[in-house]
Amino acid sequence: MHEANIIDGRAIARTVRDEVRTKVDAWTTRGHRPPYLAVVLVGNNPASASYVRGKMRASAQAGIAGDTLTFASSLTESALLGIIDQLNADPGVDGILVQLPLPRHIRAQRILARLSPDKDVDGLHVVNAGRLATGQRGFVPCTPAGIMALIDRSGISTSGKHAVVVGRSNLVGKPLIHLLIRKGTDATVTLCHSQTRNLARICRDAEILVAAVGRPGLITQEMIRPGAVVIDVGINRVDDPSRTRGYRLVGDVDYENARAVAGWITPVPGGVGPMTIAMLLSNTFLAAQRSH
Ligand code: NDP
Repeated sequence: MHEANIIDGRAIARTVRDEVRTKVDAWTTRGHRPPYLAVVLVGNNPASASYVRGKMRASAQAGIAGDTLTFASSLTESALLGIIDQLNADPGVDGILVQLPLPRHIRAQRILARLSPDKDVDGLHVVNAGRLATGQRGFVPCTPAGIMALIDRSGISTSGKHAVVVGRSNLVGKPLIHLLIRKGTDATVTLCHSQTRNLARICRDAEILVAAVGRPGLITQEMIRPGAVVIDVGINRVDDPSRTRGYRLVGDVDYENARAVAGWITPVPGGVGPMTIAMLLSNTFLAAQRSH
């Protein structure tokens, strides 16, 4: 029976992280201080705290220095703006990451807009979104950058291919279309969302199909063109009494059945997720390098 090639995000992420480590070592050997990443965590969302711990651990392994600045969920928006101002002004800080989501009383767009675009290693400032959209050098959001690295490093060509992206968030879908249509990448893109008619038909035409929705099982086997590259960005918890924690993580793609049709596929976990952290490290090194 046909089985898709598995795109091993953990292995590719390890390679990217090792490459960052090598660049950081060369950088510090030349007499520079290590790159420094400040992570701002507001509130006590356990998932956010766990993501931040993962990011800090990976940073340390890559030779990147950093701190997590943790605040109670009662922190006011103006206090957080003040903290961002301080980090922007600190020449010892190369990258700033504000872990999302923020508590409801803090407007994330206002906070992100306050970041110095040149320290915005998550690539979410409107200036970086604009730079990406107009082909200028900036910071590319980590998840879409990671998706492109998975495709490139698997030796998959994109030129002239039809790529379908499902999900139009500022975090994933929208920046990804700019990366896919860049000169040199040259895909032809369709972007789908909750109001798209005939989603199944459009997906079935995709040579590269990216699902970034947050709905388990949305992409079924029938929606996949034989041989397609399937990138599953979704991270969903589904109940699983057989696990001690009571749930397991799945993507947006019906993985087991999709494998029988796709040419390439990313698993969840172990696909796009590890790449997001790897690209954060890569962006933080770039921030340090560009500030000199
Ligand atoms: P958002 O909720 O911001 O966006 C979801 C998108 O999916 C929206 O554009 C929405 O459409 C669309 N959508 C919802 N339902 C449907 C449907 N039935 N058919 C087609 N489109 C639909 O999510 P994010 O982009 O932030 O995240 C998407 C998923 O990726 C989540 O599971 C998240 O956990 C995961 N994620 C994983 C990361 C990683 O590192 N692997 C990083 C970031 C996210 P509309 O705009 O019309 O509402």
